[in-house]
Amino acid sequence: MAAPGPAVPRGFLPGGGSGGAPDPLPEPKPLLELIRLKRDGGRLGEADVRAFVGAVADGSAQGAQIGAMLMAIRLRGMDMEETAALTRALAESGQQLEWPEAWQGQLVDKHSTGGVGDKVSLVLAPALAACGCKVPMISGRGLGHTGGTLDKLESIPGFTVIQSPEQMRKLLEQVGCCIVGQSEKLVPADGILYAARDVTATVDSLPLITASILSKKAVEGLSALVVDVKFGEAAVLPSQAQARELAAALVGVGAGLGLRVAAALTAMDTPVGRSVGHALEVEEALLCLDGAGPPDLRDLVTRLGGALLWLNRQAEAQAEGAARVAAALDDGSARGRFERMLAAQGVDPGLARALCSGSPARRRELLPRAREREELRAPADAPRSRPLPAGTVEHIRALPLALVLRELGAGRSRAGEPIRPGVGAELLVGVGQRLRCGAPWLRVHRDGPALSGPQRRVLQGALVLSDRAPFAAPSLFAELVLPPAHGPTDTQK
Ligand code: URA
Repeated sequence: MAAPGPAVPRGFLPGGGSGGAPDPLPEPKPLLELIRLKRDGGRLGEADVRAFVGAVADGSAQGAQIGAMLMAIRLRGMDMEETAALTRALAESGQQLEWPEAWQGQLVDKHSTGGVGDKVSLVLAPALAACGCKVPMISGRGLGHTGGTLDKLESIPGFTVIQSPEQMRKLLEQVGCCIVGQSEKLVPADGILYAARDVTATVDSLPLITASILSKKAVEGLSALVVDVKFGEAAVLPSQAQARELAAALVGVGAGLGLRVAAALTAMDTPVGRSVGHALEVEEALLCLDGAGPPDLRDLVTRLGGALLWLNRQAEAQAEGAARVAAALDDGSARGRFERMLAAQGVDPGLARALCSGSPARRRELLPRAREREELRAPADAPRSRPLPAGTVEHIRALPLALVLRELGAGRSRAGEPIRPGVGAELLVGVGQRLRCGAPWLRVHRDGPALSGPQRRVLQGALVLSDRAPFAAPSLFAELVLPPAHGPTDTQK
């Protein structure tokens, strides 16, 4: 099947024009009036959105006003044009990245709406670089109960997420990929709104998610982007229907900005892989870069990468792209890029080498570790149909696990709060596997006192056993949403 071409609807281009001189924008309204307008269900025009974002970026908007506007948007929503205006205004709050002509057609990226145990970006950015792409990934911190790529990378001593546009260019020249955060130069207004959403219960707003993700990607000057839109109990948007709506907004608003975007819907009920928590997830990402690690993680990495290579016309079919990503994991070339990225982003080269070439035990010594470990065991009377001696792991619920880990310090409850990088949990069994009564199924890594009774109860409630026969866990990848007129929604040939 032919790879899709770009779709750029008129009137939706950066700067608000369709090629000619843009119409002058009307006078912006005062911030208080803009908040009232959105609160009452009105529509914000381009000038209104720019005025709000301008006030966020220059510091003239008070925290309470930012929170009020975010809540008004969360409750009243935004149409596609407002969302596109917000995306443009956020992107233009900082610098547009510019790349050499020769990189045209090679610039790609992947972003996730946020999950539990989701370390895909850590693996996929270097794997794509090993496949000949340039990946200028501007990523995010933890949001709500979900973990952030930047926080995970910062658990590696020395790793620096703040890189100037000039440094990013050097990183792409030398390594082929970088993973950086917002800064005063890069989408600063999204950085402010992102942190404010995290503490105002406005994380799960479709237009805010769309604008947040696409503003970062719009400044990257990409030729193709895949967004991993998660659905399920532990996703920011639990229902698949809502996730589909978000996917359509990302694809549609992206097309309007001249970005070729595909959105993969992937299940987020059980943690991705077997580790949750910052340093533990880095360890697991390294295992995947060794060509090993949990099959669900590798499957997600290769499928998302395959879809992206196909979308960017670097592979004839998604399966061919997936095979190229898998080969980069198996032959060590992706891990080599990761090592170079670490060294180029501030990690001591000796440490980067030791981490990438060391055994799993050595890696654990080199990364931050929590002070204590505590294991949870399968209930002695499980499953319900006694006297069966064992149960099959039907499901491990990621949400209760993430909520307890956040309480233990693996996440934030206030903007800017430090994270305990060694805190986390290892799943000692996988979905579909047999678990003996009384056998350990979860190892919690903690810095503080022993788990409380309620915490243990919540965690034990995350383990769902059945008495059916062991089974192969299904792929997390559910469907791929492409821009309209670009063929079937899920092609895996
Ligand atoms: N990633 C982002 O950058 N923003 C969101 O809102 C969600 C995920």
